[in-house]
Amino acid sequence: MITHHPNDALLLDYASGAASEPMSLLIATHLALCPSCRRKVADYEAIGGAFVSNCGSEKISRELKSETLASLDDFLDVETCHDTSIGTRSDEPKAGIPQPLSDYCGEVDNKDVWQWAGFGIKKIPLLEIHDKFECYMLAIRGGKKVPSHDHGGSEWTLVLDGAFTDEAGHFSRGDMVEMREGEEHQPMADAGKDCICLVVAEAPVSLTGSVGRFLNPFIGN
Ligand SMILES: [Zn+2]
Repeated sequence: MITHHPNDALLLDYASGAASEPMSLLIATHLALCPSCRRKVADYEAIGGAFVSNCGSEKISRELKSETLASLDDFLDVETCHDTSIGTRSDEPKAGIPQPLSDYCGEVDNKDVWQWAGFGIKKIPLLEIHDKFECYMLAIRGGKKVPSHDHGGSEWTLVLDGAFTDEAGHFSRGDMVEMREGEEHQPMADAGKDCICLVVAEAPVSLTGSVGRFLNPFIGN
C-alpha cells in the first residue's frame, strides 16, 4: 500500500500543465500506481475546466482569430517544442515499469541499458537535454547501503520495485519521497531484491562523512 504521496502543490502543477517535463514524468508515473492521487488530479482538472468555461469571452475580429490560429500552428511546428503534460493510464501493469515511464527508459531487464555508478548503484540517465533537473532511473543492489549524502537542491525519489529504508522511513513500490536542500540521508535497499527508483533532482548529491568527502572529487563534485 502506498503511504508516501506527492504534495498537493506538485499535483496541482501537474494538473494545470505548469510542471516541467521531468516533474510531469515523475508525477504521471506515480499516478499510474496511485488511485487516490489520480482522483485528486481529476478533481483539480475538473475545477480548472469549470473555471475556464465560466470565464467571459471577448468578441474578436475574423482576421485576428485567423492570425492567432496561424501563429499557434507555427509555434507547434518548432522542433524544440515538447509536450510537458505527460499523460498517464490507469490500466496499471501488475509489476514492472508503468506507463508513461516505460516509453522513456526502454527495457530495464536489459543490463546493457544500465551504467555502473559505483557503491552497488546503477543508473539510466533520462531527459538529458533538460537543463534545470537531473532525471534518471536508479537501481540499488538488494541489501546495499548507499553512501551517506546530502542534497544541493530538492530531490524526488519514486520507488518502482523493491524497497528502501532511510532516516525518514520505509519506502516501497509507488511511494514518493522528497528530500530538500541540506537534508542528509543514507538509504539502504531491502535485502533480496534490487530497489529500482525514478529520481528527479535539482542539483547533484554530495557525499558526506570522512570517506565520502574524500570520494566527492571522483564522482564529479
Ligand atoms: Zn499518491
